[in-house]
Amino acid sequence: MSKVIEMPAPVEQIISQLNVHGYQAYAVGGCVRDSLLGRTPEDWDITTSARPEEVKAVFRRTVDTGIAHGTVTVMVGKTGYEVTTYRIDGKYEDGRHPKQVTFTPSLEEDLKRRDFTINAMAYSQKEGIVDIFGGVKDLEAGVIRCVGSPIERFTEDALRILRAVRFSAQLGFEIEANTYKAIGEIAPNLGRVSKERILAELTKLLLSDHPERITAVYEAGMAPYISPRFAAVAKPLPHISPILPKRKHLRWAAFLQNEPEDAAAGVLKELKSDNDTINRVRILTRWCKMKIIPDKAAVRRIMSRMTPELYDDLILLKESILAEGPERERLKQVKRLTAEIRESGDCLYLRDLALNGRDLMEAGVAPGKAVGDTLERLLEQVLEEPEKNTREALLEMLRTG
Ligand code: ATP
Ligand code: MG
Repeated sequence: MSKVIEMPAPVEQIISQLNVHGYQAYAVGGCVRDSLLGRTPEDWDITTSARPEEVKAVFRRTVDTGIAHGTVTVMVGKTGYEVTTYRIDGKYEDGRHPKQVTFTPSLEEDLKRRDFTINAMAYSQKEGIVDIFGGVKDLEAGVIRCVGSPIERFTEDALRILRAVRFSAQLGFEIEANTYKAIGEIAPNLGRVSKERILAELTKLLLSDHPERITAVYEAGMAPYISPRFAAVAKPLPHISPILPKRKHLRWAAFLQNEPEDAAAGVLKELKSDNDTINRVRILTRWCKMKIIPDKAAVRRIMSRMTPELYDDLILLKESILAEGPERERLKQVKRLTAEIRESGDCLYLRDLALNGRDLMEAGVAPGKAVGDTLERLLEQVLEEPEKNTREALLEMLRTG
């Protein structure tokens, strides 16, 4: 494992600026872990001995993101970098952050509060890797291990037990035996962790290279403390194909594919998901159970029930579910028909109908519910016979009922 990390230029600049002013500073946590693994870090966090006011005095452009927790965002161009003062955490409550924190002049103290050895390393160009808890060794061995006593660390913040499984799924790592044992013991404490934090971890787990590791959440006894509907998801859990694109609603729909749509939506509702995701997962779990007949009218009817994007997602989901065989062949035909339907611009939605509500009323349809019902009926016809989507043909249809 290479001991030299390429840091983005702004991160190096921020660290050296802080050094020039007499403060210690390092890249820390996930970015060090990911760099050592040869993965591209999502963001670069910086830890420093400087107090938030001191950080603000060093840099011209800063944003007060979480001053109470010691975090100041330093802006370089349009990108923000979080610079956080070395701290010791108080008890974690429901929220994203510990309830109170104490600043400390010691890097070691700051690293000690972090969850896993692989997340508790710091790095600077001057000093190289600061690895007090054996993070490099665990990275090399592919192990998730708590910093210090697992029982204590999980008792401080039960979300960490879910993070252990999430990191094991993202990195393909095993959870060290003592850490795993503590997970089972502390699982009931998950009941006091906010649903939002739980949902965020589960989503990252599903978006990982090993979404199937969600089974560990059940095997380790966490599910009942996550939510009743989550615990009730039918076993065996479905296989989630890693070829399915890493998008939130797709991966959740794959996980919930065998649930009735109300149950699927219910799982996400209990976890306080946003409504957009709930709605998409509801539609995907409804339709992924139905066969699509390779027949143009049938395909148009399904296309008309959702946005074009969601329809494409439904096909992706079905592709990931179906094994090679006649069903899979039929799906290929459906894809060909879909392309033809789009190519010829067939009408699929009310807004593409050659007549609108006003036209109908002018033609004598009574204002009110009848207008909507009639439009729906005309659309049904046009989905069967797309060439009928002209003013004349539709008016004719109206006359003949
Ligand atoms: P990613 O950004 O991919 O989710 P990450 O390791 O950067 O992974 P973050 O949640 O961004 O995870 O947290 C940054 C760092 O803060 C972690 O690497 C870890 O050192 C520390 N950390 C985050 N959450 C906790 C927690 N609940 N308990 C202890 N330490 C934590
Ligand atoms: Mg991060």
